Amino acid sequence: MADARGEDGAAAPSEEKLPESQDSSPEEGLDPSAGEPEMECLRNLLMRTGLQDPPAQKVLDECSLSGVAKYILSGKCNRIICIVGAGISTSAGIPDFRSPGTGIYDNLKQYELPYPEAIFEIDYFKKHPKPFFELAKELFPSQLKPTICHYFIRMLRDKKLLLRCYTQNIDTLERVVGLSDRHLIEAHGTFYRSHCVNKLCMKKYDFDWMKDKIFTQTIPFCQNCYSLVKPDIVFFGEGLPEKFFEAMQMDFPSCDLLMIMGTSLQVQPFASLVNRVPRSTPRLYINKERFPKKDTLKEFLGLSVQLDFHSGKAYRDVAYIGLCDDGCLDLAELLGWKEELEKIVLAEHTKIDQAALRPHRKSSVGKRVSQRVGRSASSSSSETQD
Ligand SMILES: [Zn+2]
Repeated sequence: MADARGEDGAAAPSEEKLPESQDSSPEEGLDPSAGEPEMECLRNLLMRTGLQDPPAQKVLDECSLSGVAKYILSGKCNRIICIVGAGISTSAGIPDFRSPGTGIYDNLKQYELPYPEAIFEIDYFKKHPKPFFELAKELFPSQLKPTICHYFIRMLRDKKLLLRCYTQNIDTLERVVGLSDRHLIEAHGTFYRSHCVNKLCMKKYDFDWMKDKIFTQTIPFCQNCYSLVKPDIVFFGEGLPEKFFEAMQMDFPSCDLLMIMGTSLQVQPFASLVNRVPRSTPRLYINKERFPKKDTLKEFLGLSVQLDFHSGKAYRDVAYIGLCDDGCLDLAELLGWKEELEKIVLAEHTKIDQAALRPHRKSSVGKRVSQRVGRSASSSSSETQD
């Protein structure tokens, strides 16, 4: 029987055909997110009344990282979804610049914006593109070097366990490790592609072209029509890519394990994804920040995102409070994959260093791999939340 394979060699997620690109402009047509909050509310109410899902079953032997590892190795966990945020990229030197309060918004005074968020607003951008492109240069490290966590996600794909990775990040690091459109949903868009903003032209540009413009501080104009060229990141005032909504409907009902990494799920509709997996599906939360406390009002409205790590009723949620790289290394160790993961990271980082035609030096991530070699996973293993 022919095995459906993605362009990156891994088994293709079955039963779906997603568009190969996110080329359609979010400005065209209807916003596919319209009505989402209402639907989310209804869905949560249904779930709470038990009308939507079969009764929950306990899948994990124990609610711990080793319980998750055992489940992955059991052969019953073949469709893993990763949902990831800025926390998986911080060790690559990429700041969490879209979240207010991280310092970036506070450092925008030099651009003389009417208000900080204007830098990511589409109408402002079309009139004043310079601040955005100046900021873009500050945000990108001179080398794009994915983290241990990114390579762990790629390992899941290579082992045919990854159904999809949903990322809030626009830094393209998932692309750098080799995830393709088949396994990747860039919910907030990406710098990987750019388009001319003129709807009659829409000429597409690749990342290298845009990167060159950003690093030389040249405002990018279309070679066809001289209109502005904008990276395909989702600005305020634009809808999320249609592919996000299409894939979400297909993927989550059949998810065997949800891995939430580097995000404390504060942004909708991304945050509500955790409520979309079946009630038996284990959810592993790996993040430096603890999961936010209960919001009673949101819970009443059926809009809250709840994970239960420690109550008497907890049966499927596991928290690892720490760096995403450490969480992935610890999980890899429990899976017997640690050595393989470390080898991949070091080999790939070496390749990136060599490609940059620089003298080889270990990245901070590479150093962390070295430091952790030989350290037992149990020394900093999963913690439960309180
Ligand atoms: Zn054009």
